[in-house]
Amino acid sequence: MIVDVHSHTPQYKEAVPPDQVVVNTLWRPDRPVNATCSWQDYLQAQQPADKSIVFGIAWHPGQMSDNLSGQGPGDTSWYDGNVNDATAAFVRAYPERLIGFMSLHPYDARCLDEFERCRTDLGLKGIKLGANYQNFDPLEPRALAIYERAQKYGLPILFHQGTSPVREAPIRLAHPLLMDEIAIRYRDLKIIMAHMGHPWQAETCVVIRKHPHLYADLSGNFYRPFSFWEQLVKAGEWNVLHKILFATDFPVATVEETIAALRQVNRLVEGTPLPRVPEEEIEQIIQRNALALLGLE
Ligand SMILES: [Zn+2]
Repeated sequence: MIVDVHSHTPQYKEAVPPDQVVVNTLWRPDRPVNATCSWQDYLQAQQPADKSIVFGIAWHPGQMSDNLSGQGPGDTSWYDGNVNDATAAFVRAYPERLIGFMSLHPYDARCLDEFERCRTDLGLKGIKLGANYQNFDPLEPRALAIYERAQKYGLPILFHQGTSPVREAPIRLAHPLLMDEIAIRYRDLKIIMAHMGHPWQAETCVVIRKHPHLYADLSGNFYRPFSFWEQLVKAGEWNVLHKILFATDFPVATVEETIAALRQVNRLVEGTPLPRVPEEEIEQIIQRNALALLGLE
């Protein structure tokens, strides 16, 4: 079973019109990324995965569209402009493949109502937050109210962690040590720390080591091959490889290229005395049943 715990809801239901294609050159150092995609683009890129967790980002209060491409919400004719409705419509069309997460903005006065609507009417199973993108303090009371409720209903939260090239997104709001503070207060809350907190992967390892319900996803890393190898070696040394979850951050990467990169992680150190990431651990990351760990089965 292959589970991708981190992918983004396509902005387009049908094929992206050529004049609306947006290519992002900042996300990856090795190749440009097509930031605009359709349902079919998504399904094709996710092909070998059995299940994928998918979500948008509630950008600002009152502006629920996923603006990550930097080009507005794309084609909103197939939903009403609320990113959670877009996710729910996509999941409803492919329920055996997809698990939808909601996104909320703590500064939105209707935030907790939206939580309930997503949980009950839309059937979304978790929450995606990106405090840096959404520009909120992850320890402020309105954010804590979301965690409190997520813990109550057993909904996992995936937090964007670490840096991003988005100029308006304050990096400090996504520092992994903040997750420690949250996990100390909400001891049953399940949290996925995205991107292993890049470039603070060691900090992420020591945080997930402390807290039984904290995990890290490895998306956003393999195209920096030295960091990728180093962080997996460190995760082994901190004894947390069993808490690393497979993820792509689609559209930034596909499932296939992420699997290939994992299986090649030791190439860098071939013929050297440097430590290797054990092959069986790599296969376990690829095959890990994250849904069971997150209570989503
Ligand atoms: Zn992402």
